[in-house]
Amino acid sequence: MPRRRSGALRAQYQGPRVWEDPPPSRIHGLSARTSLAIHRVEGLSSDYYVFPGATVRALRRYRAFLQPPGRRPLYPQDTHCSCRGCSFGDVRHARDVLEEVLQRLPPRPSAELKRQVAHLDAVCLERTLPDPFAHRRQWRADLWWRRRLTVGGEAV
Ligand SMILES: [Zn+2]
Repeated sequence: MPRRRSGALRAQYQGPRVWEDPPPSRIHGLSARTSLAIHRVEGLSSDYYVFPGATVRALRRYRAFLQPPGRRPLYPQDTHCSCRGCSFGDVRHARDVLEEVLQRLPPRPSAELKRQVAHLDAVCLERTLPDPFAHRRQWRADLWWRRRLTVGGEAV
């Protein structure tokens, strides 16, 4: 194909050139570079649960879970629908999504996001209780956030 099209063809374009995507908005607390890297990871993801905007949503969900003032323990809750929207009802799912994104990001953006997540993790560890039977009943019990007591977390 010729590198330059005829003027007639190019003249058909109206208005500004349209890029494939609008530029991603910067994620609160993260640099523009890291926000862009996250946007790319989400856009390229073939994982149903890692979709455009999933990281922001996961961060918001994690913060909201840890929001209640006071020292009362907090308990993650199961959700009854496994679609990628409802799944965020379970804060552990939000943490899963963050982990997935952390692993797919290049080292520097990953380290930057990790600092935010680590701060939330520290609060989460303080505000939740360990579940001594997690290995028996919990899927992916190798992950610390899946070894915390849930609502109605009695031994099965
Ligand atoms: Zn649903």
